[in-house]
Amino acid sequence: MNRIRARILLCLSLLCGSWLATAGAADEPPIRILLITQGCCHDYDFQTQSMQKALADRKVLSEWTVVAEGGKGTEAEIPFYDDADWANGYDVVIHNECFANTDNPEYIRKITAAHKAGANAVVIHCAMHTYRKTKIDDWREFLGVTSRRHEHKSEYPVRVVVDDHPITREIPKDWKTPLDELYVVEKVWPQTTVLATSVSEKDDKLHPVFWTNQYGQARVFGTTYGHSNATFEDPVFLNTLVRGIQWSAGRLK
Ligand SMILES: [Zn+2]
Repeated sequence: MNRIRARILLCLSLLCGSWLATAGAADEPPIRILLITQGCCHDYDFQTQSMQKALADRKVLSEWTVVAEGGKGTEAEIPFYDDADWANGYDVVIHNECFANTDNPEYIRKITAAHKAGANAVVIHCAMHTYRKTKIDDWREFLGVTSRRHEHKSEYPVRVVVDDHPITREIPKDWKTPLDELYVVEKVWPQTTVLATSVSEKDDKLHPVFWTNQYGQARVFGTTYGHSNATFEDPVFLNTLVRGIQWSAGRLK
């Protein structure tokens, strides 16, 4: 408990929230989750609570540190990353933030360096458009996809392309998203495995919507869905997200 208390105190000192899920009685220790969230255009408080509840509902023990800094705009450099060891002590880092106009290469590389050294990650929706303005590709290589825009909201059918992957194998064949945005993926990076796609209603192009990536020593799971609160209430999306968190943390084979 000392470590948990220390982390909560650290978290409070950073003006962020922390939450410990105690549901379940698994033999495994809790998954230590660092959530980076905030920025433009989405209801991050709701999404955070929804993710935490989804793990607890599935009896997945988790210990959360939530860094909700940077405000509601499109540009921020949060002091949390000033410590080069910012990712130490966590099994997985969830990026659910939206800062498209932050473009400082030195700042961005403080983040990607920790991931390349082994900080596993889950990247959600607007994380893909975060640092969109920057010229360097480090963040995009970390994500595993390059995307700079999205298409209109719709209920997009999701087609699983790797049937036996532990993250996506429970997705029903006829699943459609709640009203959500389709992100246009212009590049899939070489270490990326596309797990599922959706098709554009404008030009019939297929875009990855769930994937895994290997970035240096880190396992990365990504999804471009997650715009709306309805998506964060959808049991199939939440189940896939929980499995992605477990997989990235090395708890799902
Ligand atoms: Zn969005």
